[in-house]
Amino acid sequence: MSLIDLAELELGDIEAALSSRGCPAYHARQIYRWVYRRGETDFDRMTDLGKALRARLREEFTISSPTVVGDEVSSDGTRKLLLQLADGKRIESVFIPDTPAMTFCVSTQVGCAMACAFCLTGKMGLVRHLTAGEIAGQVRVLAAATGLLDKSFNIVLMGMGEPLHNYDNTMQALRMLHDEHGLAVSPRRVTLSTVGIVPALERLANEPLMPNLAISLHATTEEQRTALVPPNRKYSLESLIEACRAFPLRQRSRITFEYVMLAGVNDSLDDARRLAHLLADIRSKVNLIPLNEAPGIPFDRPSDDRVDAFAQVLADRHITVSVRKSRGRDIRAACGQLIVEGGPRKTAAQQMAFLMG
Ligand code: SAH
Repeated sequence: MSLIDLAELELGDIEAALSSRGCPAYHARQIYRWVYRRGETDFDRMTDLGKALRARLREEFTISSPTVVGDEVSSDGTRKLLLQLADGKRIESVFIPDTPAMTFCVSTQVGCAMACAFCLTGKMGLVRHLTAGEIAGQVRVLAAATGLLDKSFNIVLMGMGEPLHNYDNTMQALRMLHDEHGLAVSPRRVTLSTVGIVPALERLANEPLMPNLAISLHATTEEQRTALVPPNRKYSLESLIEACRAFPLRQRSRITFEYVMLAGVNDSLDDARRLAHLLADIRSKVNLIPLNEAPGIPFDRPSDDRVDAFAQVLADRHITVSVRKSRGRDIRAACGQLIVEGGPRKTAAQQMAFLMG
């Protein structure tokens, strides 16, 4: 009989699993605390559980965790963990200190199906969705590795993958991370970044645990956006902007619009004016991301002057704008800097991508 993996279950389901086996449900809370607050997944080290119970748990349950197989620190303090999953697939998760809070950038898929023209992850296609336990597990492992299990931190779903293409697992992971017996991460500290899968956005609008929203916009006309972000063919810029306009925002909260800047492609002052016009009646802020160049990506990063001039057009139109400082570029931990060590013909393990700057 195969073991039930408690890392995949929300607290209520762990309680149900224990009760149905004749164990008092409150042990679930003890286990949950060990796993999420102490980073402990070995029943034998859960010292407040009786010996007989621990033996029993071992027979029926397991608690899986991504294994750290690589750990690199950038000159700017950004730290990138290479994590191996139960089936041997690998993903990367990034810790960005002081931004201003501590931030974990996590993946929601191995690879990605969206195929954005400037992103190497897109070139890989989708390998598979991550499970809820794998998404939440990255946070547990990062928090343990950085000594932040009992501190507050931010989470950005800006790693590899499209979170709204793996909707149910992503939302389950957020519930698991939010639980007060675990890491108690407030949804206000979570930012979900998406290409804008419109029906999923409409679903998200009704979630009880609502993360902050970041939209990967990147373009200001249908034609330009379809060329850069292929899902635009199905979910047009117009319908996306409409969904954003209708999106319920908390008081004082705004939608972030990410805009990757590609020299000579979408960085003109006309682009900036069109962008300001599109966002005029949306509570928004713009995050400009000068392209992180990567081999195989047929675009260039614009000059700093160009970026500044673009930002100025937005600022003049009263749009809050920031330029994302790309962190961790020296260890290829920045946005869209996929690392694939070894292609199909090489034997070296394939490393994964993630996109945080
Ligand atoms: N799929 C989601 C999550 C990825 S988030 C989304 O698209 O929003 C990562 C952000 O980095 C996205 O805005 C993405 O468009 C951006 N990005 C991808 N490749 C990049 C690159 N080479 N340089 C800079 N930003 C990039």
